[in-house]
Amino acid sequence: MHSLPLLLKVAERFGTPCFVYFLDEVARRVNLLQTAFGERFQLSYAVKSNPNPAILERMRALVDNLDISSAGELRLALAGGWAPSRIGFTGPGKRLGELKTAIEHGLGEVIIESLDEAEDLNAIAKDMGRQQSILVRISPRKIPKGFGVNMAGKPSQFGIDEESLDAALEKIKSLQHLELKGFHIYSGTQCLDAVSIAENYEIFIDVFGRATRAHDITPQRLVFGAGLGIPYYEGNKAVDLQEVAKRINPALDALRSEPRFADTDFVLELGRYLIGEAGIYVTRVIRIKDSREISIAICDGGMNHHLGACGHLGSVLHRNYRIFKLSDSGQEPSYSYELVGPLCTTIDTLGHNIKLPMLKAGDLIGIHCSGAYGITASPLHFISHDPPKEVLVDTLADGSNLEDVSQFSPRVI
Ligand SMILES: *Cc1c(COP(=O)(O)O)cnc(C)c1O
Repeated sequence: MHSLPLLLKVAERFGTPCFVYFLDEVARRVNLLQTAFGERFQLSYAVKSNPNPAILERMRALVDNLDISSAGELRLALAGGWAPSRIGFTGPGKRLGELKTAIEHGLGEVIIESLDEAEDLNAIAKDMGRQQSILVRISPRKIPKGFGVNMAGKPSQFGIDEESLDAALEKIKSLQHLELKGFHIYSGTQCLDAVSIAENYEIFIDVFGRATRAHDITPQRLVFGAGLGIPYYEGNKAVDLQEVAKRINPALDALRSEPRFADTDFVLELGRYLIGEAGIYVTRVIRIKDSREISIAICDGGMNHHLGACGHLGSVLHRNYRIFKLSDSGQEPSYSYELVGPLCTTIDTLGHNIKLPMLKAGDLIGIHCSGAYGITASPLHFISHDPPKEVLVDTLADGSNLEDVSQFSPRVI
């Protein structure tokens, strides 16, 4: 996907630390999904995974819809040229002002996370003399094993419990200023196992089917929170999409054959699978320090830009992301290092006991799977270092294929 000379060139030209995003990899992944599922799904990109404005703008040509979760993400989406009708708004804590903003802009759908929220949205729409389309998010009872993040079958701020859905739907259907367009489930993510992913979609199909039949709804949209994981760690294997498709395509076709689903959009909603592996974080070794028999490589960026690589984004144990040395790449990884960032805290560790070729000050390090939940999911301001650069590599475009798309500027004191 990426070439080492290109990454070296980016570091040389734009400086470090730097996130490098490969747009052709995103396009390739869109293609993989559309091929495997035979275009049975529309795609919806979750902005929170990487809200870089340049990426949002490019995504317009690659996916059908955007999933936003705040008024701030809405501003970014609109600035990126997205039509409000292609935007859905999820999130458990939407403020009344945000609900109003959603109606004002005529968003495609507001995704309802609780009955209370539906009542608030209805009251606001009534005051404005407007109708608003909604999807009801369901919190299912079950999820198969193998999901790194799992929200099903336990108390959750996300969606209406499957157990109380029927009563809630009766009330929601009576709200005059809301139009129920369908359902949404996102109950887990970071799953690498094809069978578990397919079984989870089967659960969705079952829950969607029962809700629509029980309430005689002909849905326009059913959103499947994809849950597709990416291989962050050594030894992880990428999801076998063919295997997922083999199981799920017939189930989707069976659903489609029921008249009420003949014109329903089936939507796959995802973030990390599209953008995660398309990003590399590049940081430079500032110095090597030997301490009590251990070699410590201190880098110019760390937890402040990349909380996930330091193991603090929802993981219990710190496992090393796949990390490589950019320069002298032919050498054997026969040295062991603690790879740390520049912050004055012991939790700023990018790699623990990591095997790399010999490092010296000035060497460049690359970290895989850095395109999603990087810069905006990290404590960027902690210790007031400059923000990282962000560079887009777009080999699809004509002319210059490297673009500085940094979204945060250094502080001027
Ligand atoms: C975070 C989120 C996603 C994207 O999750 P990934 O693991 O990045 O694919 C999709 N939908 C909703 C509602 C989310 O909150």
